[in-house]
Amino acid sequence: MKRILTGDRTTGKLHLGHYVGSLQNRVKLQDEYDTFIILADIQALTTHFEQPELINKGIYDVAIDNLSVGLDPNKVTIFLQSKISAIAELTVFYSMLVSVNSLRHNPTIKTEAKQYGYDDLSYGFLGYPVSQTADITFCNADLVPVGEDQIPHIELGRKIVRRFNDLYGNGRVIIKEPQALISETPRLIGMDGNSKMGKSLGNAIYLSDTVEEVNKKVKSAVTDKNRISVKDKGNPEICTISKYHKAFNHEEYNNICEMCKNASIGCVACKNDLSKKINQLLEPFRERRAYYEENIKEVRDIILTGSQKANMIGNETVDVIKKAMSIHI
Ligand code: ATP
Ligand code: MG
Repeated sequence: MKRILTGDRTTGKLHLGHYVGSLQNRVKLQDEYDTFIILADIQALTTHFEQPELINKGIYDVAIDNLSVGLDPNKVTIFLQSKISAIAELTVFYSMLVSVNSLRHNPTIKTEAKQYGYDDLSYGFLGYPVSQTADITFCNADLVPVGEDQIPHIELGRKIVRRFNDLYGNGRVIIKEPQALISETPRLIGMDGNSKMGKSLGNAIYLSDTVEEVNKKVKSAVTDKNRISVKDKGNPEICTISKYHKAFNHEEYNNICEMCKNASIGCVACKNDLSKKINQLLEPFRERRAYYEENIKEVRDIILTGSQKANMIGNETVDVIKKAMSIHI
């Protein structure tokens, strides 16, 4: 069975962007692939090192979010990054194979550095794509379902792997070259119309939101500002809500756009339709979430068992890699 590795930073609850960008594919592929879900608490440190409690709480938030969307703990391995020593070791080895300039020029690093207000980047933050390559390769993953912002990181990871195999493989492939799996909605915009729905941007509908919270957030979203009365014709191209219909109400998307353009549906009705669709999607998630919140010890056991398994696999990989690099006596 081929392997999937993907996951999330433990910086807070997951939202609809995570769902359409990656979680939906995780659920869809869990029977076909041996799936590993990383709770990335070390990568969370790269921006949140001053908030260790937030990262710690995030471990349960993110684990429960992944379980609530329908990942089956009997099929997938959910594990904690900080428990996998192979990831730390591989990060050091890979750091020799990547130039500082290639990290500095990475477009996602640039965008995020701006978002966090960094000018003098920490060594850890600049190097997180290297550590992410270790996350992906410690278990020799084939496929990585991720959102659009991750494409430069996967590309860098592939380069590191090729470099490693060329240098130390003696004609053999020691580490597999992973492939990104990009979804149909690779970047969901924020409720505020901002270019990305983000955990740290205050513009998200969370998977854990109640019916009322969803309704309220959808109601306050920006539509076509030129459309003042219901009788005015709208322009779905510049409407946040239309992007959401495309992602969460795909069958009716074309029809709704037409009705907007000829003023046969108003923004209030259009928003109500969307809220209903989102709440329909979230309903089964809410049920599973309630179960796991009641049985938090079970969640802890899932993470500990998964980490033990991942650690064993990681140790085997490190042995192979060290041998290839002649790091032995
Ligand atoms: P943070 O602000 O802490 O970085 P984040 O929202 O970027 O949080 P991550 O844990 O960094 O979340 O990302 C987890 C996965 O979700 C990645 O594959 C990322 O590409 C995907 N993702 C995050 N936000 C979106 C979005 N708005 N649209 C599509 N995919 C997304
Ligand atoms: Mg991120």
